[in-house]
Amino acid sequence: MRSLPTLTLAAAAALAAPAHAHKAHVHGVMNLNLAIDGPVLVVELVTPQDSVVGHERRPRPGAETTAAAAALALLSEAPRWLQPDAAAGCSAGPVTIVPGKLEGPAPAGEKDSGHADVEARVEWRCQAPAALKGVDVLLFDAFRRAERIDVQVAGGSGPAKQTLRRGQRRVALAR
Ligand SMILES: [Zn+2]
Repeated sequence: MRSLPTLTLAAAAALAAPAHAHKAHVHGVMNLNLAIDGPVLVVELVTPQDSVVGHERRPRPGAETTAAAAALALLSEAPRWLQPDAAAGCSAGPVTIVPGKLEGPAPAGEKDSGHADVEARVEWRCQAPAALKGVDVLLFDAFRRAERIDVQVAGGSGPAKQTLRRGQRRVALAR
């Protein structure tokens, strides 16, 4: 019966989770979900806040606040962290960001301890989707603490699961 608590936890997590599934929160590991649907490429990044700014609390006034704003500004410009093949003629819509603890006042009772995730979601629309063979991921350039990116691809003809390590950029969407 050892599997029972696991099942119960998974069921509870599924109920609590938003529409998309969250992976485990591991510092240094980012999760990138790519979904291709005709001309649309949906990109969703879920990362520990630690991998973005090196802590998981509200930024302190001064350098930490500046760094937090810079990180969110970078994420809000999709081409600064991910670039579809130029031949596909893709353009990014607005980026929706869940800022973790990087923005806004702390709700009453929030503690400095505990974990926080930052999320970014954007839809790219491509004029020539057949030419979309892959994307270049620039997250290692942007965030020095990122060590690994676990990539899930839905709707492509390339591998559904890919892993990028520091120094790698390319995610194949087609064979
Ligand atoms: Zn954490």
